[in-house]
Amino acid sequence: MATFKEFRNNVKPNWCPGCGDFSIQAAIQRAAANVGLEPEQLAVVSGIGCSGRISGYINAYGFHGIHGRALPIAQGLKLANRDLTVIASGGDGDGFAIGMGHTVHAIRRNVNITYIVMDNQIYGLTKGQTSPRSAVGFKTKSTPEGAIESTLSPLEIALASGATFVAQSFSSDLKQLTALIEAGIQHEGFSLINVFSPCVTFNKINTYDWFKEHIINLDTIENYDPSNRVMAMTKLMETGGMITGLIYQDTARRSYENLVPGFREEPLAHQNLQITPEQFDQL
Ligand code: SF4
Repeated sequence: MATFKEFRNNVKPNWCPGCGDFSIQAAIQRAAANVGLEPEQLAVVSGIGCSGRISGYINAYGFHGIHGRALPIAQGLKLANRDLTVIASGGDGDGFAIGMGHTVHAIRRNVNITYIVMDNQIYGLTKGQTSPRSAVGFKTKSTPEGAIESTLSPLEIALASGATFVAQSFSSDLKQLTALIEAGIQHEGFSLINVFSPCVTFNKINTYDWFKEHIINLDTIENYDPSNRVMAMTKLMETGGMITGLIYQDTARRSYENLVPGFREEPLAHQNLQITPEQFDQL
């Protein structure tokens, strides 16, 4: 059985020292090992941004896609080869701005993949502009007078869109994050895990200390029930979305691929797709 070290490759990440994305990479590698995967059983698909580099840093199949389009690629991969464990990953700009249409429809489609969003509330790769996750009043080069638009609440949108697995974590909490990624991989259907991942270079407001001060771990809330969608929505609204842990899980709904009538029982990867020259001539 592979250890988490076997999910490492020899590519050195070029994230800034201290970037939260390092811990997310480590959590994915640990979770993959903990659920018993081998590197050839995992595919990591990413979008564009600092976070998008992650698909090249893990010893598994990797696909570095285009901006906001990790999810269509990841869903296609899963439908073509249901034996693969597919993780899609990207930043808040990637998934909640240009890619938001794909995100909402992937949530309601419920293909069995895990989507990890590295949420630093800013665009890091393009050197610090306001993202849909930035707070009102947030000053950057693109909003020198402070952001005017309201902050997007992606987990509330996910619940309203029929999500079957919604979780949130903090890159500093490797134990919780690893456990949530394991649970997301094992969940039947689309699992969304939003991870607060500080950008130490461009976001001087939402720092490690800021998150530690504002985050409420659901483990500390008595009688919280992650199978209760109304409770999940209420808690997100009450806290401004600053809760971490398993927020909501619906274990009853089957995944998309298990509900499509007539969908091939045998994954494409198991089928003999080669045709002979004689068969080709008859096409
Ligand atoms: Fe991380 Fe920000 Fe550096 Fe990008 S710019 S690698 S998000 S710290």
